[in-house]
Amino acid sequence: MTEKLSDERFEEVSENYKRISERIETARLKAGRKDEVRFMGVTKTVAPELINRSVELGIRLLGENRVQEFLDKHESYDKRAQVHFIGALQSNKVKYIIDKVSMIHSVDSIKLASEIDKRARAHGLVMDILVEINIGGEETKSGISPEELNAFIEEIYGLRGIRIRGLMTIPPVNTGGSSERYFAKMQEMFGELKSKAEGDSRFLVDTLSMGMSGDFETAIKYGSNIVRIGSLLYGYRKY
Ligand SMILES: *Cc1c(COP(=O)(O)O)cnc(C)c1O
Repeated sequence: MTEKLSDERFEEVSENYKRISERIETARLKAGRKDEVRFMGVTKTVAPELINRSVELGIRLLGENRVQEFLDKHESYDKRAQVHFIGALQSNKVKYIIDKVSMIHSVDSIKLASEIDKRARAHGLVMDILVEINIGGEETKSGISPEELNAFIEEIYGLRGIRIRGLMTIPPVNTGGSSERYFAKMQEMFGELKSKAEGDSRFLVDTLSMGMSGDFETAIKYGSNIVRIGSLLYGYRKY
């Protein structure tokens, strides 16, 4: 799994980072937005040395989606970077990551939310979470359906070890232009959640995590403020 890091490989990532950052900025301005869009480097299968070089380039947010791989690698990470957990998370694995990440993007069940709450409180912390939405209603995908979101929020609202920061999604792939309507729907739901949360200290709804290598510009058009970039940054690879 480890790869030897050549200068060319680093150069390539450096060029990719510059190009993607420019595209993010262009998309942000084109959308008439004044707020920030955060660049997340998605680090699955990437060697820690290369991850740290990318932190040196300016990436301050890393996304991890496999518990074991993360545990194997995280101690060598540059401490200037924050890590968010973005992948499918089994409840029994929460205890391994609870004190090592600053946000969990993939909360998709009451059981998982309750476990995060319990483990966070045991560590004397409050974990920031995003609710993952299955925006395309796909059978094979995890996430809460849009219709269930309000009920889900009501159920986890009382948990003191978590703080709801917003929403995350992975829209259906290969849908041509229609991913646009999924992002639009997410933006609408995010706006509703935000107004619901206003003036309530148990919420701090400010994060809409959507957009990956193939669709981040469209996601930015619809208000995404964390784009999760893997292959376009670190090079194409098998997952
Ligand atoms: C792998 C992954 C990404 C990055 O995908 P790319 O298409 O390689 O940019 C983003 N989000 C999640 C949840 C992922 O698992």
